[in-house]
Amino acid sequence: MINSLIDSFGRQIDYVRLAVTDRCNLRCNYCMPAHGIDIVPRKELLTFKEMYRIVRVLTELGVQKVRLTGGEPFVRKDFMFFLEMLSSNDLLETINITTNGALIAKHISDLEKLPKIKTINLSIDSLQKEKFADITRRDVFDDIYRTLELLEKSSLQLKLNVVIQSGSNCDEIIDFVKLTKNKNIAVRFIEEMPFNGEGLREGNENWNFSKILNEITKNFNAVEISSERSSTSRNYQINNHLGTVGIIPAFTRAICSDCNRIRITAIGTFKNCLFDDGVFNLKDFIRNGASNNDLKELFLSLVKQKPENGFIAEANRKKHISESMSTIGG
Ligand code: SAM
Ligand code: SF4
Repeated sequence: MINSLIDSFGRQIDYVRLAVTDRCNLRCNYCMPAHGIDIVPRKELLTFKEMYRIVRVLTELGVQKVRLTGGEPFVRKDFMFFLEMLSSNDLLETINITTNGALIAKHISDLEKLPKIKTINLSIDSLQKEKFADITRRDVFDDIYRTLELLEKSSLQLKLNVVIQSGSNCDEIIDFVKLTKNKNIAVRFIEEMPFNGEGLREGNENWNFSKILNEITKNFNAVEISSERSSTSRNYQINNHLGTVGIIPAFTRAICSDCNRIRITAIGTFKNCLFDDGVFNLKDFIRNGASNNDLKELFLSLVKQKPENGFIAEANRKKHISESMSTIGG
């Protein structure tokens, strides 16, 4: 058996994004409706043992990096225990986490003790308390900003995820860039995608990659810096700034040709692309007794179906997009 995950366009898959839960303590308006989403019964979520096993098999096929996301990963009970468990996989090099930050302050010193955990991506869409509460529909700005400062001082690398929405936080792009002046952080602006639990919003002016970049370069001297081949963002250095800024063309999908990622949702659905509607039910496969070799063969064949890009993945969907990012694992 060829022991490497290479798709039919020659792209090597070495990165898995795993959603550890579909639950969340916030209600960001670009991610879900105010009343939340229909969460699945607990037994439908993959167990930590099942997640560990899936990641182990993937690392035996060359995956080196895992991103843990959700929902909110720290909402899952014993998530710190899972991080320790995952760290014991000797084939895994890097564990990164995407979090809204509301629950992690007390865990930072323990996170620092796990050397495979390199980067925390903290989602923060506004630096203004009231606007933050409008977007997330929860009043937790002060806690999250405090966490930002604690993470910045920690040994973990800190990236900020900022989803830009027209008529909301697009007037804060400059303030976020200014934050990189004295802080060693990477601020990344993300194009909004229609994964809000309801589908594409009507009539929104689109803050796409070019418009965000234009807003930055109008105000700063930004020089593009080289990024890892499969980086999701294009990154820029501003004169005399300690940190960097980046833009993630998530909706205009300019990054697909270097894609090295697959995704596993909290209920164990295998996804080759953010925009596909799920390719395989791993949970049933495992619970029906699949061996590790069965899983290996399955993964090798599934990645061969990886579509060339997110537009093709979207065109191949059976249903229009109506899911929340919280069930996919962004
Ligand atoms: N709860 C965690 C958080 O917010 O960081 C992890 C899960 S969240 C789904 C992962 C990332 O997806 C966050 O940075 C969030 O801002 C982003 N996201 C969610 N919905 C999105 C959308 N409709 N368009 C673009 N990014 C989105
Ligand atoms: Fe929760 Fe993250 Fe979605 Fe916000 S973006 S509702 S924090 S899962």
